[in-house]
Amino acid sequence: MDSLRRNQYLQAIGVDVWVPRRGAAATSIAVASPAAEATPAIADSAPASDGPLPSPLEVGMAAGGADVVSPIAAPTVTTWESLRAEVLTCTKCTLHTSRTQGVFGVGNREARWLVVGEAPGAEEDRRGEPFVGRAGHLLDAMLRAIGLNRANNVYIANVLKSRPPGNRDPKPEEVAACLPFLMRQIELLKPRVMLAVGRIAAQNLLATDAPLGRLRGKVHHFGELNTPLIVTYHPAYLLRTPSDKRKAWEDLKFARSVFRALTTT
Ligand code: SF4
Repeated sequence: MDSLRRNQYLQAIGVDVWVPRRGAAATSIAVASPAAEATPAIADSAPASDGPLPSPLEVGMAAGGADVVSPIAAPTVTTWESLRAEVLTCTKCTLHTSRTQGVFGVGNREARWLVVGEAPGAEEDRRGEPFVGRAGHLLDAMLRAIGLNRANNVYIANVLKSRPPGNRDPKPEEVAACLPFLMRQIELLKPRVMLAVGRIAAQNLLATDAPLGRLRGKVHHFGELNTPLIVTYHPAYLLRTPSDKRKAWEDLKFARSVFRALTTT
C-alpha cells in the first residue's frame, strides 16, 4: 500500500497523520512516534495474569512458560458449510431464544489472518454478519491500514454466534456452549495469525481475567499449532474512546510485524 492511501485509512480511523515540513525526506511521513515506528521485538513470554477464569478451554503450559491454550473437544469431521448449518440451527444455550439469527463468520476461508470479536450486536444480529455498522466500518478501516480486507485476506468471527440481549457481556455458560464452534472454525482455517479484538475475546481465547491493557503488546500463542495471537481494542470501544486509537494502531503494526516475521522466514 502506498503511503498516501495508508494515511487516508489512518485518517479514516481517526489516527492523526503528521506530514513532515518541507525539506524533510518525502517518504518520512510519521504516523506515530519514531520509537513506536520501529518494528517491535516478538516477545514470546507468557502474559501476566491475575488468575485463570473458569474456562471451557484447557490451558497447558509449554516449556518456557508460554501460554498454550488447547480445546477440550477433539475436532470432529467438519466442512465450512456443515459447521455453518450447525450454528444457524443451534439451540445449545438460551441465546437462541432471543436472537434473530446466528452469525457464523465472514471473509476468506483460506485467509491467513483471523480476527476474533466478542458477539453480534443488534445490527449484526439483524444482518447475519459480524462487525457491521459503525464498529464494523472502523474495523474495516483498521484492517485496511495494514493492507487487509474482509473480502480477500481476513476471516472474521466472534466468540459467541448469537447476540446477548442488550449487548450484555456473555455469560460463562454461553461461552462454554459456543466456543467449540470457534474452535472448529480455527481448525478449518488454520490461520497464521490471530487478532483478538476486545477484552471479552482476548480473555476467553487466552483463558485469563487479566485486563486488556496487560494483554496488549505481546505475542500469545493459541492452540496446538501455537498460532500467534495479538490483542487489541474492540472498535466499538474505540468509537467511545477515540484517544486510544493510536494505541490500536500500535497494536496493528505489531501484529503486522509478527505476520511478516512468520511469512518471510
Ligand atoms: S450463542 Fe452459540 S451456543 Fe448459544 S445458541 Fe447461539 S450458536 Fe448456539
